[in-house]
Amino acid sequence: MKPAEPAIDLRSDTVTLPTVPMREAMARTPVGDDQFGEDPTINRLQERVAEILGKERALWIPTGTMANQIALRTLTRPGDDVVVCAGSHTVHHETGASAANAGVQLTEIGADGIFSAEQFVAACKPAGHIVAPPTTLVEIENTHNRAGGVVVPQDRVERICRAARDRGVASYLDGARLWNASAATGHSPAALSAPFDLVSVAFSKGLGAPGGSMLAGSRTILERAQRYRRMAGGAMRQVGFFAAAALYALDHHLDRLAEDHANCRLLAERLALCPRVRIDLDRVRTNILIFHLTPDGPTAAEVVDAARDQGVLVFAFGPRTVRAVTHLDVSREDCEAAADRLTRAIEA
Ligand SMILES: *Cc1c(COP(=O)(O)O)cnc(C)c1O
Repeated sequence: MKPAEPAIDLRSDTVTLPTVPMREAMARTPVGDDQFGEDPTINRLQERVAEILGKERALWIPTGTMANQIALRTLTRPGDDVVVCAGSHTVHHETGASAANAGVQLTEIGADGIFSAEQFVAACKPAGHIVAPPTTLVEIENTHNRAGGVVVPQDRVERICRAARDRGVASYLDGARLWNASAATGHSPAALSAPFDLVSVAFSKGLGAPGGSMLAGSRTILERAQRYRRMAGGAMRQVGFFAAAALYALDHHLDRLAEDHANCRLLAERLALCPRVRIDLDRVRTNILIFHLTPDGPTAAEVVDAARDQGVLVFAFGPRTVRAVTHLDVSREDCEAAADRLTRAIEA
């Protein structure tokens, strides 16, 4: 028997492991009690991220899901309506948390990761109406995960946020993959964040750190967010170890995201050659590939199983829909091998 090689893991960009130099940076960083504001490394990261995002202040949040939940608590009241894009993380991947925590209802609009200012205005419910729930927040996810890492065009973002401001509606950017949107468009993270009242970013996705997210915005908004972080049980102590990994990632892993995008593109172009695969190549702009299987082909579950036998891990996103994500721990050669093995798994 030949020795088992580690699988090429394309299930998510969250599967990356901290590198040896990242672990060294974590081990030697100074730490303190962050609830007393005394962790020098987290303070350094918060200042740096506030500057990168062009906001007054940034606040450490343990996960992206908690960042979304705290954003909802901070910018809405129970019973409010929040307009989000169809397929957003808040609706589909947070086990109903928005209803349980903030007590809001979510109205999904648009398609393929994108909606227009006109669609937002049409969906916006007025304040003070005798039956309608008031819309108090609009959320945009950039890049949009379920739509396949789609980048929302910035002129649209600006028009939506302007329409929101005109109506007294707050705006929130779920930027778990904002770094990827920046790498794909050349717009700085600050430019992409500028139209929004509140922004989240993650260190545990494309940047390859073991965990952590941040919320960034004005001092007033962040003061409220800090209270809800404590309420959610998300205020931590010597969290500088994680911040050291995030600082290392900003120094060493940010500039290489274009490699992940090129690898994803390669995978997409190879798989698009399979007669049983449907891929909209125009939408493959970042590190997420969503592809569909034709009715005469195998199901997504069958492809996931057959690929695993070939040493490639992917994720079934629907009965005939598969997701593959490129990241720090898969090379160009890995992606070439994965394309061949996935093709075999689909054609078998
Ligand atoms: C992964 C993700 C989150 C949540 O992040 P976790 O750290 O896994 O809780 C939020 N929004 C988007 C768009 C994501 O892809």
